[in-house]
Amino acid sequence: MSTPPPSPNALSMPVRFLKGVGPKKSAILEQYGIATLQELFFHVPRRYLDRSVIVTIEELRRLSRRQSANEQSLADVRRDYTVVGEVRSFDVVGFRAKARFVLVLADKSASMQCVWFGGVRYWKDRFTIGETLAVSGEPSYFGNVLQFVHPDIDRIAGAKKEEEVEDADVETPQVDWTSMLNSGGMVPVYPSGKDLERVGLDSSGFRRLLASAIRQLNAVRETLPDTILQRRRLLPLTSAIQTVHFPKAADILEESLRRLKYEELFYFQLILALKRHRVKHETKGIAFNVQSKLARQLLDSLPFELTRAQVRAIKEITADMALPKPLNRLLQGDVGSGKTIVALLCMLIAVENGYQTVFMAPTEILAEQHFKTLAALLRSLPVNVRLLVGGQRSRLRKDVLADVQRGSAQMVVGTHVLFEKGVEFANLGFVVIDEQHRFGVLQRASLRKKGVNPDVLVMTATPIPRTLSMTLYGDLDVSIINELPRDRKPIKTILRHDQEKESVFRFVREQIREGRQAYFVYPLIEESEKVDLKAATVHFEHLQRDVFADLRLGLLHGRLSSEDKDAVMAKFKSREIDILVATTVIEVGIDVPNASVMVIENAERFGLSQLHQLRGRVGRGSDQSHCILLTEAWLARKVKGIKGRPDGRVQAMEEQRQAEQRLATMVRTTDGFEIAEVDLQLRGPGDFFGTRQSGIPEFKVANILTDTSLLDLARADAFALVDHDPQLKLPEHHDIIDHLRGHFRDALALVRVG
Ligand code: ADP
Ligand code: MG
Repeated sequence: MSTPPPSPNALSMPVRFLKGVGPKKSAILEQYGIATLQELFFHVPRRYLDRSVIVTIEELRRLSRRQSANEQSLADVRRDYTVVGEVRSFDVVGFRAKARFVLVLADKSASMQCVWFGGVRYWKDRFTIGETLAVSGEPSYFGNVLQFVHPDIDRIAGAKKEEEVEDADVETPQVDWTSMLNSGGMVPVYPSGKDLERVGLDSSGFRRLLASAIRQLNAVRETLPDTILQRRRLLPLTSAIQTVHFPKAADILEESLRRLKYEELFYFQLILALKRHRVKHETKGIAFNVQSKLARQLLDSLPFELTRAQVRAIKEITADMALPKPLNRLLQGDVGSGKTIVALLCMLIAVENGYQTVFMAPTEILAEQHFKTLAALLRSLPVNVRLLVGGQRSRLRKDVLADVQRGSAQMVVGTHVLFEKGVEFANLGFVVIDEQHRFGVLQRASLRKKGVNPDVLVMTATPIPRTLSMTLYGDLDVSIINELPRDRKPIKTILRHDQEKESVFRFVREQIREGRQAYFVYPLIEESEKVDLKAATVHFEHLQRDVFADLRLGLLHGRLSSEDKDAVMAKFKSREIDILVATTVIEVGIDVPNASVMVIENAERFGLSQLHQLRGRVGRGSDQSHCILLTEAWLARKVKGIKGRPDGRVQAMEEQRQAEQRLATMVRTTDGFEIAEVDLQLRGPGDFFGTRQSGIPEFKVANILTDTSLLDLARADAFALVDHDPQLKLPEHHDIIDHLRGHFRDALALVRVG
């Protein structure tokens, strides 16, 4: 027999080649990130309905009757059931506090009600007459009416429409629920969306599509090497795909999903490993002489000793600096752990080696403040520090740019303008990025191009949960400062409600009498900056006039010019202002050790990391500091475990639950890593950094919150593989190259040596 010619792996086949996928469908599928067969196969069911608990409405009626008639002995019957039926009608019933949302569901046997007492406004726009739902819950009776109260629902199919026929596949049969339900095993429910539903790709539409795609399975080649499959006991790709979409039983289902998750994580980590290998071994960097008189002089001038964690971080960074490879390291540490001084000492080493250095901050306010901090610390050292930000006058800017180009600016502090066109460095050697999660991976790369191959140290203001940093910063080495300076007292955090304001004001006044200073922070109440500004201004005037008439108050918000911001900050620093009233512009980095009280109004509106950052503005000196979270009375009572009723201002229940958890976490702990974990759990990885452009990869199957141990394995395997075969030249890695070619084109450049 002759060997067949190598055929392309069917995984990279475009979905538009599938029967039943016309231009309309394929365009929308592509929008949802499903362009190839691979991506379709990885569009896995959101959930499976267990066939054994799917009943008709009539059966449900019988089951629940029996249960209520003989409750004791039939306790085991009391369980969740699932009903599949069509939406017949829905309406809001009753008024105000008694309002509820009632939906009537019918199948061939009978009809029943689904009732929601909360979130009425949310549910009322969520359904269409005629769509098919799978509804799960514990049945109950209201009088004679069979009900599910607050059931789980899965959308199965939209209401039938004529237009769908255009793209419909004549060859694949329509999914018939009755036949599917009789077939045993698990019934998949696919995630969908409004646009997808419009072209017939609701859950059952996806089922049809997968039925057609699965016929290509024999042309699908394995994507992982045998050694890994064996070592990690992973199922072959094709059988995993088969099972995930057409499952027979729950146990191999788990295994199959695990296989697909592993694959996603493995390829992601493989690309990181290739990147890191390339930077480390194939790029020439600067081998700094790390014996530095300047650094020694700075150390000697400090009024404090470095913590052990700081010393360890410096050792790790300078060890890399000494090598002829570019440093590429993440410095993690909680607020106030002293990252700046660590970065500065390393910058001084670079300066002494004759290189220019950059300190990049995420906002102008911060850049200005860092500039001042650095300049003050370096007062007695022969180092030329310059500031480059957007708002500078053109004469000054020209002067700075010339200084930078000549190479005489040894340290340049600034914002992202540092890597815009027109900024030319003579010999950039060391870059510090104080990241605050706002610079993406791309910007990091573009800054890199400014120097030959400068060392790059990325600092994060808030700790990042390990799983996230392994994906987001997975190509960097990591140093962690896990210790605060010894003289720090943990900040006391208390929750107060609006009716207790008087006592809060009294407390603040006492602190100021003792020589301390305070912050009052207000949230962005509206999206619009104008309204926000007004709110802060109104509060400022109220506090100054009615509460603290005898004290000196200052106002800081994002709309002030940089000179005005400067002036306010300078006054606060030199204690000419007792209370700084501010919007969230002070969230990061501001450093006034004498300030010991942070009052946060409407604390329920802030994100957890934001609250932690704000709290980090106090507790920076040796005095006992306090953080007072002000919130609505019922919420405060609830967090403290006293029952209360929402007054309706925080509407959605989920939002309310999250607000409670955020406040409770703040009161419970000051540990930034713990807070970051809770924040991640509450918000999910996409929203963790408050922005969608944060560069966090979206996985289709894996979940970086819960699949942590699998992520560890995949990462270890990927990095070991690259260590062993950096160019993926070995024959057993040909399929990997092939797969990268089909799905991760950009990554190929990392394998070919330039
Ligand atoms: P981070 O950037 O990590 O939030 P900073 O670098 O701004 O923290 O440091 C916070 C404050 O602590 C600064 O005023 C700094 O001078 C001071 N500091 C740094 N290291 C020490 C130390 N080892 N002992 C005492 N104070 C320190
Ligand atoms: Mg800092």
